[in-house]
Amino acid sequence: MATKKMIKKLDKVFGAFIRSRKNCEWCAKDGNVVQLQWCHIFTRKCHNTRWSELNSLCLCSGCHRKAHDYPVLFTEWLKDYLGEEIYEELKREHNRTKKWMDYELEELIEKYL
Ligand SMILES: [Zn+2]
Repeated sequence: MATKKMIKKLDKVFGAFIRSRKNCEWCAKDGNVVQLQWCHIFTRKCHNTRWSELNSLCLCSGCHRKAHDYPVLFTEWLKDYLGEEIYEELKREHNRTKKWMDYELEELIEKYL
């Protein structure tokens, strides 16, 4: 079972990795001009896909809010952005059962640091 301490540590590292994409993936605004955020396509509450690159987007705060306020618009854009194949792969990844252990989170920290 993963501990809260490790989850917090990995969140910090993985979030920085996603934000290093430098631009908002929806509106393309530059991270030097707008605040970039790590957006989860499937909720971060689901640990299956919490640290998945497929499930993660780098969005500006405006687009991140828009994604949550207009879920239909967001999903339509997302399907087009990812393409049907990747979109289906993400759904499969989300639907698997995954229980993380601390050593696995440690491996992810090493990978994304
Ligand atoms: Zn944006």
